[in-house]
Amino acid sequence: MKIGFIGLGNMGGHMARNLATAGHKVTGFDVAGIEVDGVANAASSAEAAKGADVIITMLPNGQILRAVAAEVIPAMQPNACFIDCSTVDVESARAVAADWPLSVDAPVSGGMGGADAGTLTFMAGGSAEAFAIAAPLFEIMGQKSVHCGENGAGQAAKICNNMILGATMVVTCEAFALADKLGLDRQKMFDVVSTSSGYSWSMNAYCPAPGIGPKSPADNDYQPGFAAELMLKDLRLSQQAAEAVDAATPLGEHATQEFAKFVEDEDGMGKDFSAMLPRLSKMKRG
Ligand code: NAD
Repeated sequence: MKIGFIGLGNMGGHMARNLATAGHKVTGFDVAGIEVDGVANAASSAEAAKGADVIITMLPNGQILRAVAAEVIPAMQPNACFIDCSTVDVESARAVAADWPLSVDAPVSGGMGGADAGTLTFMAGGSAEAFAIAAPLFEIMGQKSVHCGENGAGQAAKICNNMILGATMVVTCEAFALADKLGLDRQKMFDVVSTSSGYSWSMNAYCPAPGIGPKSPADNDYQPGFAAELMLKDLRLSQQAAEAVDAATPLGEHATQEFAKFVEDEDGMGKDFSAMLPRLSKMKRG
């Protein structure tokens, strides 16, 4: 299959390389001039799209996605499929689909490690026809894909998932900070909660307390992992979506405010999102 891949950053570079290694003819483009092993370089997004059966984008945000789509769509051959794997707002995903119906929004979970190893999870929105074209490529770049519904459903699933993740990480960190002040040993707290009704992925798989639970960014001085600013981006997308459909998300809103303070007013930028624990440990009530 001929694939045009646009956005060869931390995630896209690995994904494009895995497609090329699997035998696909991949032509890539990134404004930063990034080159990837096994991937031919195009001079523009439109050139990468020319003659391709599938175009994949992995870009920072919805505004850039819309600009790239406007450039790429006139260059696409009929029956080519547009797959956007970026995390963007639901509206931008639907806007691309309105201009090119054979398209899939397919944000991912799994981070740079998953992109490198080809073990990402894809949550996809689009027609059955478009998903059928994309699914074999998801199998190369990942280990699981879920067809969530029509265009926009993939982004909806991603931001709902990450709103849960952001809020559970904040409250898990709050619980550790409270336990410390109550004199409860962190290991005992983990032993209880990880096997009780307070368990979650944040506690069990990504414990924010150093030296406790499976290895996590907390054990590496909170180097990301999943950076606090990326969590803030996803939480803001959840709030933008909630506003658009008049959904009440009080905890999601609060988690967004906490991450905004951490990243924009304090020293959270560039730290893993679980560094919310040392932040809260230093804070007092009120
Ligand atoms: P990144 O910033 O490393 O990569 C984005 C790339 O897009 C950059 O290399 C940039 O130069 C390129 N780009 C920007 N504008 C462009 C344009 N007009 N044309 C061509 N290329 C352009 O970001 P990333 O970490 O690879 O993330 C990509 C997407 O995946 C984001 O939407 C992010 O939210 C999402 N995501 C990231 C992670 C993660 O752990 N990094 C996890 C899940 C989802």
